[in-house]
Amino acid sequence: MRVILLGAPGSGKGTQAVLLERRLGLPKISTGDILRAAVQAATPLGLKVKDRMARGELVEDALVAALVEERVRRPECDAGYVLDGYPRTLAQARDIERMDGERSEIVLEIALPDEVLLERLSRRWVCPRCEAVTTQSRPGEIPSNLCPACKTPLAQREDDTPEVVRERLRIYQDQTRPLRDYYAGKKTHRLVDGSGGVEDVYHRIAAVVKAALASRATRQ
Ligand code: AMP
Repeated sequence: MRVILLGAPGSGKGTQAVLLERRLGLPKISTGDILRAAVQAATPLGLKVKDRMARGELVEDALVAALVEERVRRPECDAGYVLDGYPRTLAQARDIERMDGERSEIVLEIALPDEVLLERLSRRWVCPRCEAVTTQSRPGEIPSNLCPACKTPLAQREDDTPEVVRERLRIYQDQTRPLRDYYAGKKTHRLVDGSGGVEDVYHRIAAVVKAALASRATRQ
């Protein structure tokens, strides 16, 4: 089963992908995380994508497709996986179908109004070690300098500044909306309310994923 998490930046896709991996054992493939790690390690890939990412622009489809293909071929993904931040364009949706078309699929779109997304992103801090996401009580204020879960110093993403956030939301509207429309026409598409706490959203998402896994099991 391929689980695709769709949603604007700040909709909670990354957080939910981590929970699906930990609790349902579906490995997550997060293109943003893979690219950020490449930038941090200053690999040839990282150097190539660094500037685009800092501006909040999308990286070339072919480049991201190669990264995803290498992951989905790994044995740990045989029983299924979660895609976080991929596909983001119609071309990428076709790429994933080409590289792994045989697999059953469920597309979960996490819906939240733009004002909430903007507000959430400007208050977001991330743990570089355990990937926990912490939200400050007020923009500009650090909640605590340590991750509440594992006590590693928290960091703010370079592309979570207000100007870049606005650009990322604009790109989402322009380039990802056609993708959303493409999936909305499919039977495998589900809209999930992204409001409330992390656990509320997780329960909505997990219910859909578990039902899809169960119906696939009865069909096999
Ligand atoms: P994310 O962590 O998913 O918000 O991604 C952070 C940044 O990584 C994006 O703003 C893009 O620059 C790049 N990126 C991540 N996933 C993709 C993708 N599927 N296609 C193109 N660029 C991507």
